Amino acid sequence: MIISQQYTLFDKITVKAQATMPFEHRKEVDLSPYNTLGLPSVCQYLGRFQSANDLQHAFEFAQKERVPCFVMGGGSNILLPEYLPGVVLISSDASIHVNGDEVTVGAGASWDNLVAETLKMGLFGLENLSSIPGTVGAAPIQNIGAYGVELDRFVVSVEVLDAQSGLAETLMADECQFQYRDSLFKRHPERFVVTRLTLKLNPRFEPVLAYQDLQTLPAQSTASAQGLRRAIQSIRAHKLPDHRIVGNVGSFFKNPILAKTVIETLEQSHVIHRNARNAQGKVSAAALIQAAALGDLHVGQAGISPKHHLVLENRGGATLTDILTLASLIQETIQTRFGIRLEIEPQQLTPLIHAPNPKG
Ligand SMILES: Cc1cc2nc3c(=O)[nH]c(=O)nc-3n(C[C@H](O)[C@H](O)[C@H](O)COP(=O)(O)OP(=O)(O)OC[C@H]3O[C@@H](n4cnc5c(N)ncnc54)[C@H](O)[C@@H]3O)c2cc1C
Repeated sequence: MIISQQYTLFDKITVKAQATMPFEHRKEVDLSPYNTLGLPSVCQYLGRFQSANDLQHAFEFAQKERVPCFVMGGGSNILLPEYLPGVVLISSDASIHVNGDEVTVGAGASWDNLVAETLKMGLFGLENLSSIPGTVGAAPIQNIGAYGVELDRFVVSVEVLDAQSGLAETLMADECQFQYRDSLFKRHPERFVVTRLTLKLNPRFEPVLAYQDLQTLPAQSTASAQGLRRAIQSIRAHKLPDHRIVGNVGSFFKNPILAKTVIETLEQSHVIHRNARNAQGKVSAAALIQAAALGDLHVGQAGISPKHHLVLENRGGATLTDILTLASLIQETIQTRFGIRLEIEPQQLTPLIHAPNPKG
């Protein structure tokens, strides 16, 4: 039997499930504890996978039941409907393998746990990405980023099952088309299931402190990676609502990247301050929402977080419709006031298009 641990770089292997292996699943599962926005949602089937081979079992099951398959991780960047007819798949592979300064991690590992573990091992770089909720498998999907650092600078390769072809593949970093909150995987959610991620980290601590909030940290906070991690944890706890207390998915909109002339106009008309954009023209969407005085806007129990205007929150009992209606009111206002289209960051789950069962 082929197992994912045996793949080597550049391998492309067609994974065929053993006919005798059942796909273990639960039926009619309440997903409200599985999404940080706390939306009420039930899925028809929920199953776990360790390897590409397990995924093929799941696809065969779905084919027999004539239902679609979806993949999710920790549910911290998704918008779930009330009912998901089909099979929801979550990785349970939380393995971490270290080879020199490279770590290969299973898709089901907790991202923040990985940050903590790598720092303990004396491998640095991920400290700025501390406290991002969710799993390792989802990290490359939107190329997670925070405090001036994005995941792609560490990625060696991403192991996936291409559901469409049935091939287990290892994509090198330059094949993943990483961009700001974007990747090949995000553009083709119907195809790729991430099974493992390999990162190359730094055996030396070289702090990245270019981000504005980090520039004013006292020297003792930036002298060690653990100190920087603690400082970032504390800034985040202060700035962002805790999703365990008030349901949210972090930033609800991407920060728009605007032309220099548009930014100049926004600055001259005092819509945004100079520090609300970076050198690449990325403008704070929170600053635009604040400038439009939308802070008190709400739809039912869906509102804008008073802690951070980029965060939409579920104040208890909000539905997906409430959240999406609030989001489109914000988008329309920002479009009308400033001529800027805000793009929603969290995803609704897309069915995987999986290869037909080789046995028909
Ligand atoms: C309080 C808070 C703060 C946040 N801060 C940040 C931040 O600073 N920076 C940032 O970038 N993000 C941030 N996020 C968003 C979120 O934590 C990240 O996007 C995270 O990577 C999502 O991981 P997840 O496991 O929860 O994915 P999910 O929400 O479960 O899924 C997200 C998407 O990835 C897909 N997916 C999940 N697992 C796989 C897989 N194995 N293979 C293929 N597709 C998969 C899903 O289908 C879905 O489209 C924040 C969220 C919250 C709630």
